[in-house]
Amino acid sequence: MLKLKLLASQKTLVVLSMKLPKQTNRFCPYCNKVTEQKIKEVKTGSKGGTMKHGSLIRAKLRGLNRGMGNQGRRSRPAVSKYKRKTKATKKAVVMYTCKECNKSKTNKKGRRVSKLVIE
Ligand SMILES: [Zn+2]
Repeated sequence: MLKLKLLASQKTLVVLSMKLPKQTNRFCPYCNKVTEQKIKEVKTGSKGGTMKHGSLIRAKLRGLNRGMGNQGRRSRPAVSKYKRKTKATKKAVVMYTCKECNKSKTNKKGRRVSKLVIE
């Protein structure tokens, strides 16, 4: 009994994998009524453009690197290769697209999940 109460009071509940349907009925603020909406997961992707922030030439222009060489900064491997990860899960962002007006909206609060399955 006590254990159950403790479990329920935990605020950060980590879900290992969450299943979501492809469509749901949800309120659309643009249509101002409940409509059928498509669900899609938003993934943080790569940045576009050739003006790379981490480029040595750009760093020199910013005055961050003087003289010759890279001062042991620019020849390092990617941060993900040598830094330890603190979190095993990510907050999933879900996009809802209204079928009537074709406008989209994301969820307000993300929930920590390691895997989001949309079926
Ligand atoms: Zn709508």
